[in-house]
Amino acid sequence: MRMRMLTRLGVLLMLVLHLVAVQAATNHSSYDASALEASPRVVIILDDLVYRQSDLKALTLPSEITFAILPDTPLGFDIAHMAHQQGRDVMLHMPMQASGGKRMGPLGLTTDMYPAAITHNIRQAMRTVPYAVGVNNHMGSAFTTNADTMLAFMQEVKRQGLFFVDSRTSVASKGQQMANYLGVPNARRQVFLDNDTSEAAMLKQFDMMKRIAKKQGFVVVIGHPYPETVEFLSRHLPELINDGFTLSAVDAALNFPSSNNEQGASAINIAPR
Ligand SMILES: [Zn+2]
Repeated sequence: MRMRMLTRLGVLLMLVLHLVAVQAATNHSSYDASALEASPRVVIILDDLVYRQSDLKALTLPSEITFAILPDTPLGFDIAHMAHQQGRDVMLHMPMQASGGKRMGPLGLTTDMYPAAITHNIRQAMRTVPYAVGVNNHMGSAFTTNADTMLAFMQEVKRQGLFFVDSRTSVASKGQQMANYLGVPNARRQVFLDNDTSEAAMLKQFDMMKRIAKKQGFVVVIGHPYPETVEFLSRHLPELINDGFTLSAVDAALNFPSSNNEQGASAINIAPR
């Protein structure tokens, strides 16, 4: 017990040191000062926070990058707090059943749950991820394709006043259909940045991201707080801005005409999860 307390104190101290370092080092103007009205917008969400101590490094990335935080993790609450203090959007990364039966972690939603149980888990999850302004699915290739459970999920999303980003772990996801039906602001993930964390693979995804942004005015990208990804983004984001792109928080993509039209954007690069 005492060890756990000490570990927790150590983590909090690290968080504080990080914040100080981040505030000293972050030059926000280099990321948004050059933003022109017509410049293509790039929305980046980092998923699956927080499994590891190294995830804390993600706090050094520009504050336009959104953190999607898993519920009921040891560090989730503190990271949400830190992210919010940086002016960063926080999302709840809600675990949902995958077709392969992979373990979801705490408070996961399954297709055999009654609506009341789904509501209960979302409310519990929200308590552990403060400041969440939106939600996206963690896994969910089974859950998101089930109309009944997706409707129950989206009704609670609406009651909580959240927006929804479909991570698109299945091409058959009913997420946006249900969100549109209930009038929940929504968008969909178009590119996964780091299914392969090699430099060459991430560069390829980065190029795809730029092409989509130029074509439709914005792009929604999902990555993870892997050390390789954080390092890659630190190196490549400044040049992205120099090339005339604007890094934007998620709301830039919400209800964009082609963003919530289920036929509007093709489902590119579906991940096997
Ligand atoms: Zn996830």
